[in-house]
Amino acid sequence: MKINVLTLFPEMIENIAKESILGKAIENGHIIINAVNIREFSNNKHNRVDDYTYGGGAGMLMMAEPVYECYKTVAGSGSRCIYVTPQGHPFSQKMAMDFAKEEEITILCGHYEGIDERVLEEIVTDYVSIGDYVLTGGELAAMVITDAVARLVPEVLGNDDSAEIESFHRNLLEYPQYTRPEVWHDKAVPDELLSGNPKIINPWRLEKSIERTKERRPDLYEKYLVDTKAIDWLKSFKREFIFALEPLRRGEAEIIHFEDGKILVLKDLNENKVYEVCTESKKPDGIDAKLIKNCTIYSTDEKFKDEGNAFVQYVYTEKLMKKPEKETSKKAFLQREKMNQALEKEETFFVLVNDNDEEEKLFQEQMGLYPSRRLVYIK
Ligand code: SAM
Repeated sequence: MKINVLTLFPEMIENIAKESILGKAIENGHIIINAVNIREFSNNKHNRVDDYTYGGGAGMLMMAEPVYECYKTVAGSGSRCIYVTPQGHPFSQKMAMDFAKEEEITILCGHYEGIDERVLEEIVTDYVSIGDYVLTGGELAAMVITDAVARLVPEVLGNDDSAEIESFHRNLLEYPQYTRPEVWHDKAVPDELLSGNPKIINPWRLEKSIERTKERRPDLYEKYLVDTKAIDWLKSFKREFIFALEPLRRGEAEIIHFEDGKILVLKDLNENKVYEVCTESKKPDGIDAKLIKNCTIYSTDEKFKDEGNAFVQYVYTEKLMKKPEKETSKKAFLQREKMNQALEKEETFFVLVNDNDEEEKLFQEQMGLYPSRRLVYIK
């Protein structure tokens, strides 16, 4: 995986990156960290990259052009551009998992009062904050993200398991751990851990994880309870919803909405798909509009009838729909334009409703679409 960091202080990135596990991962070729100095892209003879802000106020702002040129030169096409900013979404382990799936990401570090809004609008795909406080620059935030992402890249930790069963896995904090000596300051290692028996050790660890999460992070504990209920519910269908059950069990899914016994919408973080399981006969319109924020529903089939025992919806999450190599029909063109306009307005989720797989395939071809999620309803 390649991580580009666009910064005014590349040495800060390089100094941290050369140490410890990150340093080894770079040496072994598992990751590339490419710190690039935005100043090199200044078109000013004094290499200036900042200027006063329009409207007045204290502090300088990074100018759009050097940032834009730097991004265009360094980032591969389609590379996600993460702007680290206190105004972003709070960084989380789930976000790290999402970024770790990419072959390349680009992290943009601000300085001074930040960066001219216009270039952010053009290149940034993700706004990410590392916490509710203001740093002097984005470099430490970029390294927090780089570190958390890099250790999820296969082989970086050497032992894949070690990243899988630690804090935040299935919304639980990790259990307490001990090493030698067996007794320290009169405190003995719990007997369960000395038993050598996984049937004793594993339940003990789960119990301690639950206790600790409940006490220290009640917000996570609530999520854990919902996850557990959803898993039990999915298990009651035997293998029918294995596509939703497995990622949830592995801690690689995020529940978007769950009404016990009725409906579950979850995002498979590994596959970047959203699955929906619903046992009620409900018209598909409306459900998603309510459940998935900013969702726009388009029906590809005027005569869509809710008659079968089960029906499937395909959902497309491309930020903008690609143009097919050859335009197949005026209708497809117009529909794509309309959807792209909706997506431009940040309506990042949209759902196409169709109960006919063949028609759906044709439509996908016409629209240059690739389904990224499948929703299944049963009556
Ligand atoms: N004026 C900006 C504001 O109020 O939102 C803050 C600018 S801050 C002094 C300079 C840079 O530090 C930002 O552009 C951003 O890249 C980085 N930064 C500061 N706090 C951060 C945080 N909590 N998370 C991520 N990046 C941060």
